Amino acid sequence: MLKKQLHWFRSDLRIHDNQALAQALAAGPTVALYIAVPQQWQAHADAPIKLDLWRRQLMALEQSLKQMAVPLLFIEVPDYRQVPAVFAELIDRLALERVFFNAEYPLNERTRDQAVRAACQALGVIVSTCDDQVLLAPGRVLTQAAQPFKVFTPFARKAREYLESAAPAVLRPRPGPAQSLALLPANLPIKGRCKLDDIGWPSPTPQQGQIWQTLWPAGEACAREALQRWCQQNIAAYRKTRDFPELAGTSGLSAYLACGAISIRECWMKAAAYQDGEGVETWRNELLWRDFYKHILVHFPHVCRNKPWRQDLEHVRWRHDDDDYKRWCQGETGFPLIDAAMRQLLDTGWMHNRLRMLSAMFFSKHLLLDWRLGERWFMQHLVDGDFSANNGGWQWSASTGTDAVPYFRLFNPLSQSRRFDPQGHFIRRFIPELAGLDDKAIHMPGPFKPSTYPAPMLDLAFGRKRALAAFARPGHDPAQEL
Ligand code: FAD
Repeated sequence: MLKKQLHWFRSDLRIHDNQALAQALAAGPTVALYIAVPQQWQAHADAPIKLDLWRRQLMALEQSLKQMAVPLLFIEVPDYRQVPAVFAELIDRLALERVFFNAEYPLNERTRDQAVRAACQALGVIVSTCDDQVLLAPGRVLTQAAQPFKVFTPFARKAREYLESAAPAVLRPRPGPAQSLALLPANLPIKGRCKLDDIGWPSPTPQQGQIWQTLWPAGEACAREALQRWCQQNIAAYRKTRDFPELAGTSGLSAYLACGAISIRECWMKAAAYQDGEGVETWRNELLWRDFYKHILVHFPHVCRNKPWRQDLEHVRWRHDDDDYKRWCQGETGFPLIDAAMRQLLDTGWMHNRLRMLSAMFFSKHLLLDWRLGERWFMQHLVDGDFSANNGGWQWSASTGTDAVPYFRLFNPLSQSRRFDPQGHFIRRFIPELAGLDDKAIHMPGPFKPSTYPAPMLDLAFGRKRALAAFARPGHDPAQEL
Protein backbone atom coordinates (compact mmCIF):
# COMPACT_ATOMS: atom_id res chain seq x y z
CA MET A 1 0.00 0.00 0.00
CA LEU A 2 1.15 3.56 -0.80
CA LYS A 3 2.71 5.18 2.26
CA LYS A 4 0.75 8.13 3.66
CA GLN A 5 1.23 11.07 5.98
CA LEU A 6 -1.27 11.88 8.67
CA HIS A 7 -2.14 15.35 9.96
CA TRP A 8 -4.01 15.33 13.26
CA PHE A 9 -6.24 18.42 13.59
CA ARG A 10 -6.88 19.61 17.15
CA SER A 11 -7.15 23.35 17.90
CA ASP A 12 -5.75 24.34 14.49
CA LEU A 13 -8.88 24.04 12.35
CA ARG A 14 -7.64 25.76 9.21
CA ILE A 15 -5.59 25.18 6.09
CA HIS A 16 -3.94 28.55 5.60
CA ASP A 17 -0.62 28.97 7.43
CA ASN A 18 -0.95 25.73 9.35
CA GLN A 19 2.62 24.62 10.01
CA ALA A 20 2.16 20.92 10.73
CA LEU A 21 -0.37 20.50 7.91
CA ALA A 22 2.00 22.18 5.46
CA GLN A 23 4.79 19.82 6.50
CA ALA A 24 2.57 16.78 6.09
CA LEU A 25 1.42 17.86 2.63
CA ALA A 26 4.99 18.53 1.58
CA ALA A 27 5.99 15.04 2.69
CA GLY A 28 3.43 13.25 0.51
CA PRO A 29 -0.19 12.16 0.13
CA THR A 30 -1.90 13.14 3.37
CA VAL A 31 -4.88 11.93 5.33
CA ALA A 32 -6.34 14.28 7.96
CA LEU A 33 -7.78 13.19 11.27
CA TYR A 34 -10.01 14.71 13.94
CA ILE A 35 -10.61 12.81 17.18
CA ALA A 36 -13.73 13.79 19.11
CA VAL A 37 -13.61 13.19 22.87
CA PRO A 38 -17.02 14.05 24.39
CA GLN A 39 -16.18 12.94 27.94
CA GLN A 40 -13.03 15.04 27.87
CA TRP A 41 -15.01 18.06 26.67
CA GLN A 42 -17.28 17.58 29.64
CA ALA A 43 -14.39 17.20 32.07
CA HIS A 44 -12.85 20.38 30.68
CA ALA A 45 -16.21 22.18 30.90
CA ASP A 46 -16.20 23.16 27.22
CA ALA A 47 -19.22 25.34 26.47
CA PRO A 48 -21.95 24.06 24.11
CA ILE A 49 -21.69 27.31 22.12
CA LYS A 50 -17.96 26.73 21.66
CA LEU A 51 -18.38 23.09 20.61
CA ASP A 52 -21.05 24.14 18.15
CA LEU A 53 -18.66 26.62 16.55
CA TRP A 54 -15.97 23.93 16.37
CA ARG A 55 -18.47 21.54 14.72
CA ARG A 56 -19.34 24.10 12.07
CA GLN A 57 -15.68 24.98 11.60
CA LEU A 58 -14.92 21.29 11.01
CA MET A 59 -17.73 21.11 8.48
CA ALA A 60 -16.19 23.98 6.51
CA LEU A 61 -12.74 22.46 6.87
CA GLU A 62 -13.93 19.11 5.52
CA GLN A 63 -15.22 20.84 2.38
CA SER A 64 -11.97 22.74 1.83
CA LEU A 65 -9.90 19.61 2.36
CA LYS A 66 -12.06 17.71 -0.11
CA GLN A 67 -11.07 20.18 -2.81
CA MET A 68 -7.44 19.37 -2.07
CA ALA A 69 -8.13 15.62 -2.17
CA VAL A 70 -7.27 15.31 1.52
CA PRO A 71 -9.76 12.96 3.22
CA LEU A 72 -10.74 14.00 6.75
CA LEU A 73 -11.34 11.07 9.04
CA PHE A 74 -13.51 11.48 12.16
CA ILE A 75 -13.04 9.16 15.08
CA GLU A 76 -14.91 9.37 18.38
CA VAL A 77 -13.53 7.95 21.62
CA PRO A 78 -14.67 8.81 25.15
CA ASP A 79 -11.52 10.56 26.36
CA TYR A 80 -7.80 11.05 25.87
CA ARG A 81 -6.85 7.67 27.32
CA GLN A 82 -8.03 5.84 24.19
CA VAL A 83 -6.19 8.12 21.76
CA PRO A 84 -2.86 6.22 21.55
CA ALA A 85 -4.76 3.06 20.56
CA VAL A 86 -6.40 5.01 17.72
CA PHE A 87 -2.95 5.72 16.30
CA ALA A 88 -1.81 2.14 16.64
CA GLU A 89 -4.80 1.06 14.55
CA LEU A 90 -4.43 3.83 11.97
CA ILE A 91 -0.77 3.08 11.43
CA ASP A 92 -1.69 -0.49 10.64
CA ARG A 93 -4.71 0.19 8.43
CA LEU A 94 -3.47 3.23 6.52
CA ALA A 95 0.23 2.41 6.09
CA LEU A 96 1.28 5.67 7.72
CA GLU A 97 4.80 6.91 7.32
CA ARG A 98 4.70 9.98 9.54
CA VAL A 99 2.29 11.71 11.89
CA PHE A 100 2.17 15.51 12.14
CA PHE A 101 0.43 17.76 14.64
CA ASN A 102 0.68 21.22 16.20
CA ALA A 103 1.56 21.37 19.89
CA GLU A 104 -1.04 22.08 22.56
CA TYR A 105 0.24 23.23 25.96
CA PRO A 106 -2.10 22.31 28.82
CA LEU A 107 -0.90 19.36 30.89
CA ASN A 108 -3.62 16.85 29.89
CA GLU A 109 -2.96 17.51 26.24
CA ARG A 110 0.82 17.20 26.64
CA THR A 111 0.42 13.92 28.52
CA ARG A 112 -1.86 12.64 25.75
CA ASP A 113 0.64 13.68 23.08
CA GLN A 114 3.54 11.98 24.83
CA ALA A 115 1.54 8.76 24.90
CA VAL A 116 0.70 9.12 21.19
CA ARG A 117 4.33 9.76 20.36
CA ALA A 118 5.38 6.64 22.28
CA ALA A 119 2.70 4.51 20.57
CA CYS A 120 3.77 5.73 17.12
CA GLN A 121 7.46 5.32 17.77
CA ALA A 122 6.94 1.79 19.04
CA LEU A 123 5.54 1.02 15.57
CA GLY A 124 8.37 2.77 13.76
CA VAL A 125 6.39 5.88 12.79
CA ILE A 126 7.98 9.29 13.25
CA VAL A 127 5.97 12.06 14.91
CA SER A 128 6.65 15.70 13.97
CA THR A 129 5.21 18.60 15.93
CA CYS A 130 5.22 22.36 15.41
CA ASP A 131 4.70 25.30 17.77
CA ASP A 132 2.06 26.76 15.50
CA GLN A 133 -0.37 28.08 18.10
CA VAL A 134 1.98 30.76 19.41
CA LEU A 135 4.19 33.50 18.03
CA LEU A 136 7.13 32.14 20.04
CA ALA A 137 7.70 28.56 21.09
CA PRO A 138 7.71 28.24 24.90
CA GLY A 139 11.30 28.66 26.08
CA ARG A 140 12.29 30.68 22.99
CA VAL A 141 12.74 33.80 25.10
CA LEU A 142 14.05 33.53 28.65
CA THR A 143 15.43 35.89 31.30
CA GLN A 144 19.15 36.66 31.47
CA ALA A 145 19.43 33.88 34.02
CA ALA A 146 17.86 31.51 31.44
CA GLN A 147 14.68 31.26 33.50
CA PRO A 148 11.09 31.60 32.28
CA PHE A 149 9.62 35.06 32.64
CA LYS A 150 7.18 35.54 35.49
CA VAL A 151 6.38 39.13 34.63
CA PHE A 152 4.72 40.13 31.38
CA THR A 153 6.41 43.44 30.52
CA PRO A 154 10.00 42.15 30.22
CA PHE A 155 8.68 39.05 28.48
CA ALA A 156 6.89 41.20 25.91
CA ARG A 157 9.97 43.40 25.41
CA LYS A 158 12.18 40.41 24.69
CA ALA A 159 9.53 38.71 22.58
CA ARG A 160 9.21 41.80 20.40
CA GLU A 161 12.97 42.05 19.97
CA TYR A 162 13.06 38.43 18.89
CA LEU A 163 10.11 38.75 16.53
CA GLU A 164 11.52 41.88 14.94
CA SER A 165 14.92 40.31 14.34
CA ALA A 166 13.62 36.88 13.31
CA ALA A 167 10.78 38.03 11.07
CA PRO A 168 10.09 37.19 8.31
CA ALA A 169 11.68 33.77 8.89
CA VAL A 170 9.54 33.08 11.96
CA LEU A 171 6.39 34.76 10.80
CA ARG A 172 6.18 33.91 7.13
CA PRO A 173 3.11 31.81 6.23
CA ARG A 174 3.73 28.14 5.59
CA PRO A 175 2.11 27.28 2.28
CA GLY A 176 1.52 23.63 1.55
CA PRO A 177 0.97 22.04 -1.86
CA ALA A 178 -2.56 22.69 -3.04
CA GLN A 179 -3.24 19.03 -3.75
CA SER A 180 -2.69 15.75 -2.06
CA LEU A 181 -3.85 12.46 -3.45
CA ALA A 182 -4.62 10.18 -0.58
CA LEU A 183 -7.66 8.06 -1.14
CA LEU A 184 -9.55 6.38 1.65
CA PRO A 185 -12.18 3.69 1.14
CA ALA A 186 -15.53 4.87 2.47
CA ASN A 187 -16.08 1.64 4.38
CA LEU A 188 -12.58 1.25 5.83
CA PRO A 189 -13.26 -0.39 9.20
CA ILE A 190 -11.65 1.64 12.00
CA LYS A 191 -12.88 1.52 15.58
CA GLY A 192 -14.78 4.68 16.47
CA ARG A 193 -14.89 5.97 12.88
CA CYS A 194 -17.94 8.12 12.32
CA LYS A 195 -19.38 11.01 10.37
CA LEU A 196 -19.06 14.56 11.69
CA ASP A 197 -22.78 14.72 12.46
CA ASP A 198 -22.74 11.46 14.41
CA ILE A 199 -20.35 12.84 17.03
CA GLY A 200 -21.84 13.61 20.46
CA TRP A 201 -22.03 17.37 19.92
CA PRO A 202 -24.34 19.49 22.06
CA SER A 203 -27.82 19.78 20.63
CA PRO A 204 -29.12 23.35 20.82
CA THR A 205 -32.76 24.15 20.09
CA PRO A 206 -33.26 25.28 16.45
CA GLN A 207 -33.64 28.87 17.65
CA GLN A 208 -30.49 28.71 19.79
CA GLY A 209 -28.56 27.09 16.92
CA GLN A 210 -29.65 29.91 14.63
CA ILE A 211 -28.52 32.56 17.12
CA TRP A 212 -25.13 30.90 17.63
CA GLN A 213 -24.58 30.65 13.90
CA THR A 214 -25.45 34.29 13.36
CA LEU A 215 -23.26 35.50 16.23
CA TRP A 216 -20.33 33.22 15.41
CA PRO A 217 -20.25 32.27 11.74
CA ALA A 218 -17.74 29.53 10.99
CA GLY A 219 -15.16 29.08 8.28
CA GLU A 220 -11.62 30.08 7.67
CA ALA A 221 -12.61 32.66 5.05
CA CYS A 222 -14.98 34.26 7.52
CA ALA A 223 -12.31 34.50 10.23
CA ARG A 224 -9.79 35.99 7.81
CA GLU A 225 -12.31 38.54 6.56
CA ALA A 226 -13.04 39.53 10.18
CA LEU A 227 -9.31 40.08 10.71
CA GLN A 228 -9.05 42.14 7.55
CA ARG A 229 -12.04 44.30 8.51
CA TRP A 230 -10.62 44.81 12.00
CA CYS A 231 -7.24 45.89 10.66
CA GLN A 232 -8.70 48.18 8.02
CA GLN A 233 -11.37 49.83 10.11
CA ASN A 234 -10.84 49.69 13.88
CA ILE A 235 -7.37 48.71 14.96
CA ALA A 236 -5.99 52.24 14.75
CA ALA A 237 -8.33 53.37 17.55
CA TYR A 238 -7.81 50.24 19.70
CA ARG A 239 -5.86 51.94 22.43
CA LYS A 240 -8.64 54.48 23.00
CA THR A 241 -11.66 52.23 22.47
CA ARG A 242 -10.63 48.86 23.91
CA ASP A 243 -11.95 49.46 27.43
CA PHE A 244 -15.47 50.56 26.49
CA PRO A 245 -17.76 47.55 26.22
CA GLU A 246 -20.43 49.37 24.24
CA LEU A 247 -18.04 50.16 21.37
CA ALA A 248 -16.80 47.74 18.71
CA GLY A 249 -13.43 48.51 20.22
CA THR A 250 -11.82 45.05 20.15
CA SER A 251 -11.32 42.57 17.34
CA GLY A 252 -13.79 39.85 18.40
CA LEU A 253 -11.32 37.29 17.03
CA SER A 254 -10.78 35.26 20.20
CA ALA A 255 -13.17 32.42 19.27
CA TYR A 256 -11.40 32.02 15.93
CA LEU A 257 -7.98 32.05 17.57
CA ALA A 258 -9.14 29.47 20.11
CA CYS A 259 -10.23 26.94 17.48
CA GLY A 260 -7.38 27.86 15.18
CA ALA A 261 -9.58 29.15 12.34
CA ILE A 262 -6.99 31.90 11.98
CA SER A 263 -3.23 31.90 12.37
CA ILE A 264 -1.66 33.96 15.14
CA ARG A 265 1.20 34.90 12.80
CA GLU A 266 -1.28 36.21 10.27
CA CYS A 267 -2.86 38.37 12.99
CA TRP A 268 0.52 39.76 14.00
CA MET A 269 1.62 40.52 10.44
CA LYS A 270 -1.66 41.80 9.08
CA ALA A 271 -2.02 44.29 11.92
CA ALA A 272 1.00 46.18 10.70
CA ALA A 273 0.20 45.78 7.02
CA TYR A 274 -2.88 47.97 7.24
CA GLN A 275 -2.19 50.45 10.01
CA ASP A 276 0.72 51.59 12.01
CA GLY A 277 0.99 53.29 15.35
CA GLU A 278 -0.24 52.93 18.89
CA GLY A 279 -3.39 50.96 18.09
CA VAL A 280 -1.38 48.25 16.37
CA GLU A 281 1.24 48.12 19.10
CA THR A 282 -1.37 47.91 21.86
CA TRP A 283 -3.21 45.14 20.03
CA ARG A 284 -0.02 43.21 19.43
CA ASN A 285 0.63 43.43 23.15
CA GLU A 286 -2.60 41.52 23.74
CA LEU A 287 -1.45 38.84 21.29
CA LEU A 288 1.68 38.56 23.40
CA TRP A 289 -0.41 38.13 26.58
CA ARG A 290 -1.92 35.15 24.81
CA ASP A 291 1.55 33.70 24.21
CA PHE A 292 2.64 34.56 27.76
CA TYR A 293 -0.17 32.54 29.36
CA LYS A 294 0.50 29.57 27.10
CA HIS A 295 4.16 29.60 28.10
CA ILE A 296 3.12 29.71 31.76
CA LEU A 297 1.36 26.35 31.36
CA VAL A 298 4.56 24.75 30.13
CA HIS A 299 6.90 26.31 32.67
CA PHE A 300 4.57 26.08 35.67
CA PRO A 301 2.35 23.05 35.02
CA HIS A 302 0.92 23.13 38.56
CA VAL A 303 -1.55 25.74 37.30
CA CYS A 304 -3.08 22.95 35.19
CA ARG A 305 -3.76 20.98 38.37
CA ASN A 306 -6.28 23.41 39.75
CA LYS A 307 -3.58 25.13 41.81
CA PRO A 308 -2.87 28.82 42.24
CA TRP A 309 0.36 29.91 40.58
CA ARG A 310 1.31 31.58 43.87
CA GLN A 311 1.54 28.66 46.21
CA ASP A 312 1.64 30.96 49.26
CA LEU A 313 -1.97 31.82 48.46
CA GLU A 314 -3.12 28.22 48.31
CA HIS A 315 -4.78 28.46 51.70
CA VAL A 316 -6.83 31.61 51.29
CA ARG A 317 -10.11 30.82 53.08
CA TRP A 318 -12.70 31.13 50.32
CA ARG A 319 -16.35 31.32 51.32
CA HIS A 320 -18.87 28.70 50.27
CA ASP A 321 -22.16 30.32 49.49
CA ASP A 322 -24.40 28.76 46.86
CA ASP A 323 -26.83 31.67 46.75
CA ASP A 324 -24.11 34.24 46.17
CA TYR A 325 -22.58 32.02 43.51
CA LYS A 326 -25.91 31.62 41.69
CA ARG A 327 -26.69 35.34 41.80
CA TRP A 328 -23.33 36.13 40.23
CA CYS A 329 -23.77 33.41 37.55
CA GLN A 330 -27.21 34.64 36.55
CA GLY A 331 -26.35 38.36 36.57
CA GLU A 332 -28.44 39.20 39.63
CA THR A 333 -25.91 40.80 41.92
CA GLY A 334 -27.66 44.18 41.94
CA PHE A 335 -24.54 45.84 40.47
CA PRO A 336 -25.71 46.74 36.96
CA LEU A 337 -22.41 46.62 35.05
CA ILE A 338 -21.53 43.25 36.53
CA ASP A 339 -24.98 41.90 35.82
CA ALA A 340 -24.89 43.24 32.26
CA ALA A 341 -21.53 41.51 31.80
CA MET A 342 -22.79 38.18 33.12
CA ARG A 343 -25.88 38.43 30.93
CA GLN A 344 -23.71 39.25 27.92
CA LEU A 345 -21.88 35.98 28.61
CA LEU A 346 -25.13 34.00 28.85
CA ASP A 347 -26.70 35.64 25.79
CA THR A 348 -23.72 35.70 23.42
CA GLY A 349 -21.01 33.34 24.74
CA TRP A 350 -18.57 36.22 24.91
CA MET A 351 -17.69 38.95 27.41
CA HIS A 352 -15.66 42.10 26.97
CA ASN A 353 -12.16 41.90 28.51
CA ARG A 354 -12.64 44.74 31.00
CA LEU A 355 -15.82 43.10 32.21
CA ARG A 356 -14.12 39.72 32.51
CA MET A 357 -11.60 41.36 34.83
CA LEU A 358 -14.27 43.25 36.74
CA SER A 359 -16.66 40.33 37.23
CA ALA A 360 -13.84 37.92 38.08
CA MET A 361 -12.47 40.33 40.66
CA PHE A 362 -15.88 40.95 42.18
CA PHE A 363 -16.31 37.17 42.46
CA SER A 364 -12.95 36.38 44.01
CA LYS A 365 -12.52 39.52 46.13
CA HIS A 366 -15.77 41.23 47.07
CA LEU A 367 -17.65 37.91 47.31
CA LEU A 368 -14.53 35.98 48.37
CA LEU A 369 -15.67 32.93 46.40
CA ASP A 370 -13.12 30.43 45.11
CA TRP A 371 -11.90 31.72 41.74
CA ARG A 372 -11.84 28.15 40.37
CA LEU A 373 -15.65 28.05 40.45
CA GLY A 374 -15.83 31.25 38.45
CA GLU A 375 -13.17 30.01 36.05
CA ARG A 376 -15.29 26.91 35.39
CA TRP A 377 -18.48 28.93 34.89
CA PHE A 378 -16.69 31.04 32.29
CA MET A 379 -15.44 27.92 30.49
CA GLN A 380 -18.94 26.45 30.51
CA HIS A 381 -20.25 29.50 28.65
CA LEU A 382 -17.46 31.08 26.61
CA VAL A 383 -17.35 30.57 22.87
CA ASP A 384 -13.64 31.45 23.03
CA GLY A 385 -12.95 29.33 26.15
CA ASP A 386 -9.22 28.71 26.23
CA PHE A 387 -7.63 27.13 29.27
CA SER A 388 -4.47 29.25 29.31
CA ALA A 389 -6.16 32.65 28.81
CA ASN A 390 -9.05 31.83 31.10
CA ASN A 391 -6.87 30.47 33.88
CA GLY A 392 -4.41 33.34 33.44
CA GLY A 393 -7.23 35.92 33.51
CA TRP A 394 -8.83 34.40 36.60
CA GLN A 395 -5.56 34.08 38.48
CA TRP A 396 -4.70 37.64 37.51
CA SER A 397 -8.03 38.88 38.88
CA ALA A 398 -7.82 36.75 42.03
CA SER A 399 -4.21 37.92 42.62
CA THR A 400 -3.00 34.32 42.76
CA GLY A 401 -1.32 34.35 39.34
CA THR A 402 1.93 35.38 37.80
CA ASP A 403 2.15 39.12 37.31
CA ALA A 404 -1.30 39.41 38.86
CA VAL A 405 -2.98 42.50 40.18
CA PRO A 406 -1.89 43.11 43.82
CA TYR A 407 -4.50 41.74 46.22
CA PHE A 408 -5.25 45.13 47.76
CA ARG A 409 -6.19 46.67 44.39
CA LEU A 410 -9.87 46.00 43.89
CA PHE A 411 -11.84 47.42 40.99
CA ASN A 412 -14.86 49.24 42.32
CA PRO A 413 -17.87 48.14 40.22
CA LEU A 414 -19.52 51.55 40.51
CA SER A 415 -16.58 53.71 39.51
CA GLN A 416 -15.72 51.25 36.72
CA SER A 417 -19.30 51.53 35.52
CA ARG A 418 -19.26 55.34 35.49
CA ARG A 419 -15.90 55.38 33.76
CA PHE A 420 -16.33 52.72 31.09
CA ASP A 421 -20.08 52.86 30.39
CA PRO A 422 -20.69 56.54 31.17
CA GLN A 423 -24.15 56.80 29.57
CA GLY A 424 -25.11 53.28 30.58
CA HIS A 425 -25.66 52.18 26.96
CA PHE A 426 -24.12 48.78 27.59
CA ILE A 427 -26.12 48.25 30.79
CA ARG A 428 -29.35 49.19 29.02
CA ARG A 429 -28.61 46.71 26.22
CA PHE A 430 -28.35 43.72 28.54
CA ILE A 431 -30.64 44.81 31.37
CA PRO A 432 -33.65 46.28 29.57
CA GLU A 433 -35.57 46.60 32.84
CA LEU A 434 -33.17 49.41 33.79
CA ALA A 435 -33.50 51.23 30.47
CA GLY A 436 -35.76 53.92 31.92
CA LEU A 437 -33.26 55.08 34.56
CA ASP A 438 -31.26 58.24 33.98
CA ASP A 439 -27.51 58.21 33.27
CA LYS A 440 -26.67 58.64 36.94
CA ALA A 441 -29.07 56.14 38.50
CA ILE A 442 -28.29 53.48 35.92
CA HIS A 443 -24.97 52.68 37.62
CA MET A 444 -26.50 52.16 41.06
CA PRO A 445 -30.28 52.02 41.02
CA GLY A 446 -31.69 53.59 44.19
CA PRO A 447 -35.06 53.10 45.86
CA PHE A 448 -36.93 53.82 42.60
CA LYS A 449 -35.45 50.91 40.71
CA PRO A 450 -37.83 48.50 38.96
CA SER A 451 -39.02 45.79 41.37
CA THR A 452 -37.77 43.09 38.98
CA TYR A 453 -34.17 44.19 39.46
CA PRO A 454 -32.46 43.04 42.70
CA ALA A 455 -30.98 45.26 45.38
CA PRO A 456 -27.16 45.10 45.70
CA MET A 457 -26.17 41.78 47.25
CA LEU A 458 -23.42 43.22 49.40
CA ASP A 459 -21.89 46.30 50.90
CA LEU A 460 -18.78 46.96 48.79
CA ALA A 461 -16.74 48.43 51.64
CA PHE A 462 -17.45 45.36 53.79
CA GLY A 463 -16.54 43.00 50.92
CA ARG A 464 -13.32 44.86 50.35
CA LYS A 465 -12.35 44.72 54.02
CA ARG A 466 -13.11 41.00 54.19
CA ALA A 467 -11.00 40.27 51.09
CA LEU A 468 -8.04 42.25 52.43
CA ALA A 469 -8.21 40.31 55.68
CA ALA A 470 -8.39 36.94 53.88
CA PHE A 471 -5.43 37.70 51.62
CA ALA A 472 -3.29 39.30 54.29
CA ARG A 473 -3.42 36.10 56.41
CA PRO A 474 -4.05 33.07 54.19
CA GLY A 475 -5.36 30.17 56.25
CA HIS A 476 -7.25 32.43 58.67
CA ASP A 477 -10.98 32.84 58.50
CA PRO A 478 -11.55 36.57 57.79
CA ALA A 479 -14.98 36.38 59.45
CA GLN A 480 -13.23 36.11 62.81
CA GLU A 481 -11.35 39.34 62.23
CA LEU A 482 -14.26 41.55 61.16
P1 FAD B 1 -8.79 41.73 21.47
O1 FAD B 1 -8.74 42.83 22.46
O2 FAD B 1 -9.08 42.09 20.07
O3 FAD B 1 -7.40 40.95 21.58
C1 FAD B 1 -6.89 40.18 20.49
C2 FAD B 1 -6.58 38.78 20.94
O4 FAD B 1 -5.55 38.79 21.91
C3 FAD B 1 -7.74 38.07 21.59
O5 FAD B 1 -8.61 37.53 20.62
C4 FAD B 1 -7.04 37.02 22.43
O6 FAD B 1 -6.67 35.90 21.65
C5 FAD B 1 -5.77 37.74 22.85
N1 FAD B 1 -5.94 38.34 24.17
C6 FAD B 1 -6.45 39.55 24.46
N2 FAD B 1 -6.39 39.80 25.79
C7 FAD B 1 -5.84 38.69 26.34
C8 FAD B 1 -5.51 38.32 27.68
N3 FAD B 1 -5.73 39.14 28.71
N4 FAD B 1 -5.00 37.10 27.89
C9 FAD B 1 -4.74 36.26 26.87
N5 FAD B 1 -5.03 36.56 25.58
C10 FAD B 1 -5.57 37.77 25.32
N6 FAD B 1 -9.40 34.98 26.31
C11 FAD B 1 -9.66 33.89 25.57
O7 FAD B 1 -9.32 33.85 24.38
N7 FAD B 1 -10.29 32.81 26.12
C12 FAD B 1 -10.69 32.79 27.43
O8 FAD B 1 -11.22 31.77 27.90
C13 FAD B 1 -10.45 33.95 28.21
N8 FAD B 1 -10.87 34.03 29.50
C14 FAD B 1 -10.61 35.15 30.25
C15 FAD B 1 -11.01 35.19 31.59
C16 FAD B 1 -10.74 36.31 32.37
C17 FAD B 1 -11.16 36.35 33.82
C18 FAD B 1 -10.06 37.40 31.79
C19 FAD B 1 -9.75 38.62 32.62
C20 FAD B 1 -9.65 37.37 30.48
C21 FAD B 1 -9.92 36.26 29.68
N9 FAD B 1 -9.54 36.20 28.32
C22 FAD B 1 -9.78 35.07 27.59
C23 FAD B 1 -8.76 37.29 27.71
C24 FAD B 1 -9.58 38.37 26.99
O9 FAD B 1 -10.60 38.82 27.82
C25 FAD B 1 -10.17 37.87 25.67
O10 FAD B 1 -9.15 37.29 24.89
C26 FAD B 1 -10.76 39.04 24.87
O11 FAD B 1 -11.77 39.67 25.60
C27 FAD B 1 -11.30 38.52 23.56
O12 FAD B 1 -11.86 39.52 22.81
P2 FAD B 1 -11.18 40.05 21.47
O13 FAD B 1 -10.88 38.92 20.57
O14 FAD B 1 -12.06 41.13 20.93
O15 FAD B 1 -9.82 40.63 22.02
